[in-house]
Amino acid sequence: MSYIEQLQQLLSPKQVSTNETMLEQHGRDEGYHPVSLPDVVVFPASTEDVQKVVTFANEHRIPLIPFGLGTSLEGHVIPYQGGISLDLSMMNKVLDVRPRDFLVKVQPGLTRTQLNKELKKHGLFFSVDPGADATLGGMAATNASGTTSVKYGIMRDQVKDLEVVLPNGEIIHTGGMAAKSSSGLHLNGLIVGSEGTLGVITELTLQVYGIPEAIMAGRATFPTVQAAVDAVTMIRTSGISIARMELVDARSIQQVNNINGLNYA
Ligand SMILES: Cc1cc2nc3c(=O)[nH]c(=O)nc-3n(C[C@H](O)[C@H](O)[C@H](O)COP(=O)(O)OP(=O)(O)OC[C@H]3O[C@@H](n4cnc5c(N)ncnc54)[C@H](O)[C@@H]3O)c2cc1C
Repeated sequence: MSYIEQLQQLLSPKQVSTNETMLEQHGRDEGYHPVSLPDVVVFPASTEDVQKVVTFANEHRIPLIPFGLGTSLEGHVIPYQGGISLDLSMMNKVLDVRPRDFLVKVQPGLTRTQLNKELKKHGLFFSVDPGADATLGGMAATNASGTTSVKYGIMRDQVKDLEVVLPNGEIIHTGGMAAKSSSGLHLNGLIVGSEGTLGVITELTLQVYGIPEAIMAGRATFPTVQAAVDAVTMIRTSGISIARMELVDARSIQQVNNINGLNYA
């Protein structure tokens, strides 16, 4: 029996795909890297499913790459040695919202916009915004940041706890719900940014924030990059609460003007 047939028995046939379009979608990212197809795409529906597949892959020495939405840019979801692409999109539930603790527990395949839709009902939002609508598992695995990081911090600052399936199939938790803890090693910090190499994230407990009552936006043009940087430093030194700041250089503004028919300096 082929290893793909064994996987179909381990989970269910509909969770295991060798459809050509599906393989193609999991053989690329949003960057410029050449495409390379996995042998198979597997869709776990639970932590137990992930554990089964990871243990199986380890026993049979089959390469395995976790896959969120494939929006990353550095080629790390591309299976250059074939094997299993483990697509976590079926694990996309909000498991628990704790508004009074400013915490939320989610599955890794949930995207940040899906999460923010749910949080809005509670007057809350999740702060990390890398531009792409990525999964929270993928964002943790890449330690994503974005324009809001100047105020709220990067992905590593938001993660309170992760459930992780290690390559040998063992399930661990890397933190807890306490606002501060000094006990044990800082395993959150180790797994966040590990790009799927240390384990598969199957659950995340994340810090969330109240939606500000008012937000103002401003745009300014500077004669040099140094002048722009000096302005940023001055604004931050003055203690004004800044949610986002983004530097757009001359060539980028030129493209913005071209595409939108604008005339920014
Ligand atoms: C237009 C654009 C703008 C961007 N701007 C920024 C930016 O400003 N700042 C920034 O930091 N990033 C930026 N990014 C990158 C962005 O952070 C990543 O694309 C995103 O975090 C990846 O999420 P994903 O769900 O698509 O993960 P994928 O691309 O599917 O996977 C990314 C990595 O995470 C691993 N992985 C995925 N899920 C899991 C899991 N559950 N457990 C373990 N490992 C997992 C994968 O194996 C892979 O190594 C940008 C991307 C785009 C396309």
